[in-house]
Amino acid sequence: MCKINTKSLFFLLLGLFCIGLSIILGQSRTDRVLINEAEKVTQDSFDFFAQTPKGARVFAADKPSPKMLNAIDAGLSDLFEIARRNNYSKRLNYSDYTIFIARADRTKNSDNQYSPDIAIGAAQYAGSIYDKGGYVYAAGMVLAFNPCAFVIAEHTKNFLRVSEVVRFEGEHLVLYHNHRKLYNKTADHSQGGGHPILQ
Ligand SMILES: [Zn+2]
Repeated sequence: MCKINTKSLFFLLLGLFCIGLSIILGQSRTDRVLINEAEKVTQDSFDFFAQTPKGARVFAADKPSPKMLNAIDAGLSDLFEIARRNNYSKRLNYSDYTIFIARADRTKNSDNQYSPDIAIGAAQYAGSIYDKGGYVYAAGMVLAFNPCAFVIAEHTKNFLRVSEVVRFEGEHLVLYHNHRKLYNKTADHSQGGGHPILQ
């Protein structure tokens, strides 16, 4: 005869519930740190969450268009392909990446070309050709290495540029996790050098 001990069953379920709850809270705490950092850099708030068809995570200031999400996937695909060609194996899953889509602080560059960029504090670029008076315009910027996160600007056309920016920002993160020496050498563009880094 089998007798169910309801008391131990209760504690088992309570334990599972607590584990589940802490996992959920743990994830959102990481996300909150990321969101705070993104808000500090961009002065935007990121109220929309989405996932790309291939599973990258996206926080956006405005509801992201399917074209933006597909362009992010295409950029990551290119990045992973080139990384594998270099025999890198870490952080080559779409779900390893969190991308913030900020509102563009300008939509045209100094050559009057469509170029949605974000304005960020100049810091290490102070006094360089990138310095536009205390801030610089950037196509993208790395926000965190664990988890891998970066910010780009929202585009309404020329989605090839989105894929390119995703690939380029992703290069810094892939190098950080797979080839630290090359990462250190290429992280700071104010010292010269640009993208693509990986061939
Ligand atoms: Zn870069």
